[in-house]
Amino acid sequence: MWYREMGKRMTSPTEVSPVASLWTGGWWHAARPCPSPNFGARPAQAPIDLVLVHSISLPPGEYGGPHVQQLFTNGLDWDAHPYFQSIRGLQVSSHFFVCRKGVLWQFVSCDDRAWHAGLSHYRGRSNCNDDSIGIELEGTDTDAFTDAQYACLRQLCEALAQRYPIRYIAGHEHVAPGRKRDPGPGFSWSRLHASLSTLGWLFPADHAQEAGSSPTGSA
Ligand SMILES: [Zn+2]
Repeated sequence: MWYREMGKRMTSPTEVSPVASLWTGGWWHAARPCPSPNFGARPAQAPIDLVLVHSISLPPGEYGGPHVQQLFTNGLDWDAHPYFQSIRGLQVSSHFFVCRKGVLWQFVSCDDRAWHAGLSHYRGRSNCNDDSIGIELEGTDTDAFTDAQYACLRQLCEALAQRYPIRYIAGHEHVAPGRKRDPGPGFSWSRLHASLSTLGWLFPADHAQEAGSSPTGSA
């Protein structure tokens, strides 16, 4: 059964790599599972070819607390901090969340549709939630990210590349320009690109070249 599923997703069973075997039903074994109710089915035949990088911290700029995990599982106490009033009732999720220390959490199976992109458009398609994998980095739109986060992100991307037909990686700011600014200028795309060069993914600058537009689009 397991091989049949893997074969459908990727390659023939004989080509399944040890890295791919670390997945069960869209859950990566190296992540701490924290299942969220905020997900749905992907459209039939959705090609999962985009990794979307975000940043988040709750309240913004405060690190190490449990509030992001609580938000993604509808367990956040909206009265616990004044900022939370501004997001009261928000029901969102991402597939993954990388803490400042490089600890990785997973909330939604990558086979399912998480709620992280909102109104979005990229590589000629809208509604990026349908066919992307969302990775939230603990941070802000302006702060730099930690070495541990880059290391975790690299490993996660390599694992995703073994399991899904990823071709693109971009930030929320690239798929929703003018509306979203994360992960922002504190994130080094060139650093990530250098560490993932063997994957052949199209990064925002590559995509802009391919699309003949500026990296952030024309909006
Ligand atoms: Zn975002």
